[in-house]
Amino acid sequence: MSNPSFPTPGETLGLSPIAFVESPYRQKFAIPRQPGLVKSARGVIHFTEAYAHPDCLRGIEDFSHLWLTFMFHETATQGWKPLVRPPRLGGNQRKGVFATRSTFRPNPIGLSVVELLEVRNNTLVVAGLDLLHGTPILDIKPYLPYSDSIADARGGYADARPNTGMQVQFSAAAEAVLAQHTAQYPQLRALITEVLQQDPRPGYQREQNWQKEYGMHLYDFNIKWRVEDNLNQVISIS
Ligand code: SAM
Repeated sequence: MSNPSFPTPGETLGLSPIAFVESPYRQKFAIPRQPGLVKSARGVIHFTEAYAHPDCLRGIEDFSHLWLTFMFHETATQGWKPLVRPPRLGGNQRKGVFATRSTFRPNPIGLSVVELLEVRNNTLVVAGLDLLHGTPILDIKPYLPYSDSIADARGGYADARPNTGMQVQFSAAAEAVLAQHTAQYPQLRALITEVLQQDPRPGYQREQNWQKEYGMHLYDFNIKWRVEDNLNQVISIS
């Protein structure tokens, strides 16, 4: 049976961002692979002029969670492949792109549920995001538990929340820097801890249990840590 013919809406749909995200994640490495894994990650959604109007947000505070549809702008020009290696499977197995949440897709569009903490001067303060700083937001919708949460859904190879069993410790030097910044960054310790508990090492390095020094940027901080067995030792925060 041949495919029914559908009207093609032309090459591009000409989607334009309605907002951009201010996020603690300043590079792709170490960003959690799904929302809600690092609850202490706070972000602010800044609307572009056309949408920064209270009418657009009327009633949004009644919802505890929001769907964000966004663009993987950092990798959008890197193309896509029909088969990808989900990090969740250690990078060893390949799955069809539409059976994954890979960032490398025919249309580089992401979907994330975040917690709405506050509506502040026509911006939205959210928690638990998995978005890079500067990510363009294409749409925002309220999360509807009665329809969006399906209790008996099957999750395939990603059926359960990852549990790495990784521990986190801070050196005295790192503790001192944390103490200096508590007022401005009250979530910083929890953020670093929760990000490292996700074991951000690339799948193959995790599989082979590489023991080396790693680095990441959260806000304007440069964080260095060393992995020893299942312990992440935070060496420095600068
Ligand atoms: N929850 C979304 C989804 O399911 O569509 C994203 C899942 S994707 C696996 C999450 C990863 O996307 C993050 O770990 C980060 O490396 C990457 N990422 C986040 N924001 C991005 C951006 N603006 N451009 C490219 N990659 C991004």
